[in-house]
Amino acid sequence: MMKYDVVVVGGGPAGLGAALSAKENGISSILIIERDRELGGILGQCIHNGFGIHIFKEELTGPEYAHKYVKKIEDKNIEYVLDTMVLDISKDKVLKVTNSKDGIFSIRAKAIILAMGCRERTRENIQIPGYRPSGILTAGAAQRYINMEGYMVGNKVAILGSGDIGLIMARRITLEGGEVIGVFEIMPYSSGLNRNIAQCLDDYNIPLYFNHTVVDIKGKNRVNSVLIGEVDENKQLIKGTEKEYECDTLLLSVGLIPENELSKKMGIEIGKTGGPVVNEKLETSVEGVFACGNVVHVHDVVDFVTEESIRAGKGAAEYLNKNKRMKKLNIKTIPKDGISYIVPEKIDSIDEDIILSMRVKDKYKNKKIVVKSNNKVIKEIKRLHMTPGEMERVTIKRGLIGENISEISVKIEGENHE
Ligand SMILES: Cc1cc2nc3c(=O)[nH]c(=O)nc-3n(C[C@H](O)[C@H](O)[C@H](O)COP(=O)(O)OP(=O)(O)OC[C@H]3O[C@@H](n4cnc5c(N)ncnc54)[C@H](O)[C@@H]3O)c2cc1C
Repeated sequence: MMKYDVVVVGGGPAGLGAALSAKENGISSILIIERDRELGGILGQCIHNGFGIHIFKEELTGPEYAHKYVKKIEDKNIEYVLDTMVLDISKDKVLKVTNSKDGIFSIRAKAIILAMGCRERTRENIQIPGYRPSGILTAGAAQRYINMEGYMVGNKVAILGSGDIGLIMARRITLEGGEVIGVFEIMPYSSGLNRNIAQCLDDYNIPLYFNHTVVDIKGKNRVNSVLIGEVDENKQLIKGTEKEYECDTLLLSVGLIPENELSKKMGIEIGKTGGPVVNEKLETSVEGVFACGNVVHVHDVVDFVTEESIRAGKGAAEYLNKNKRMKKLNIKTIPKDGISYIVPEKIDSIDEDIILSMRVKDKYKNKKIVVKSNNKVIKEIKRLHMTPGEMERVTIKRGLIGENISEISVKIEGENHE
């Protein structure tokens, strides 16, 4: 059986960053396993700019960002296999792997880093009624067809959901000569970044309709039209508001789900994000198994995926060097008023600054993020503007959290909506 100290599942930015960091922290026997034909994960299909602003202080495209990391992986002689998929992982860290050349085989690891990314929610996930003609795709599938395979997906396109991928595809389709008739969002706000609304919709006069959803899809072989209606505050259709929009394609940008079938099968505890519960070193509930990137929680900026993966790689290296968990303080992080989740969900050691990543529940203006250690306020940050589409991060300086506490809580103070 093949044996490695660290096996990384997934060669996207999370997997690449984690492998590099494990290497830089003294581990030499590392293997990255990637099911796609190249490294880089989703970045390969994201040919727009805006990547790397935090890490490289320049605006790169997705492939440029990925290339920088692939080069580092190759320069450091870190092994990787492509077109190879991990099917199963046992609790004692044996991975069942397959590819078309070698069939099914096993690899034993001393530590594992899960970096499988996320997948898109589909029509089935949101249960849109109507026929099942061609012309209904997720925005990410359309992005792959257009940017990597060279196929146009449609001429007259409606987009459901204002997540970042949908916004970016609205601009992409327009640049490719298609017409986007509108982006329809069931919520009263966008789940995408403000910069994407400005640069991808406003700049191209593409309308964005809040509190709207698709109630029917018409067309038997190909989409002919979609019926769009307005919804009330409970997301129920307001009868009589339905309007038919002629189009040949419907793109769905209705959310991402951490890709966690392997983690669940392995018995890893799954938390509020749909990803593994991790501690500050990104270690999951199974000792020696770490997770980072979109498999833990969906990030909007890839730089933060890289930053998190560096901590996961370091955590795995520390685990191997000491061959045990460090301290186990088991301090819970509790999302309170206005916060939907916090990663990490628990803190086991406080030997370094702790970065808390979180999302807010609604849009807020001129509010404060208040962090408490048990009942004592340890940090307050003023924010002019917060929205669920933009991840919030708070760094807690080492030493601010006492050892004898049971919880760190975070809330938005003076919870009023924008
Ligand atoms: C369609 C789509 C478009 C996006 N567009 C943007 C964007 O424009 N800008 C932005 O900042 N962010 C974007 N994101 C968010 C983006 O996912 C993150 O920025 C970043 O790519 C996440 O990195 P990751 O390594 O966690 O996941 P990914 O980049 O998704 O990488 C995960 C990798 O794991 C591999 N994998 C999964 N399961 C297995 C298995 N069982 N065996 C082997 N390999 C496996 C996958 O093939 C993939 O290569 C997008 C996400 C999606 C889904």
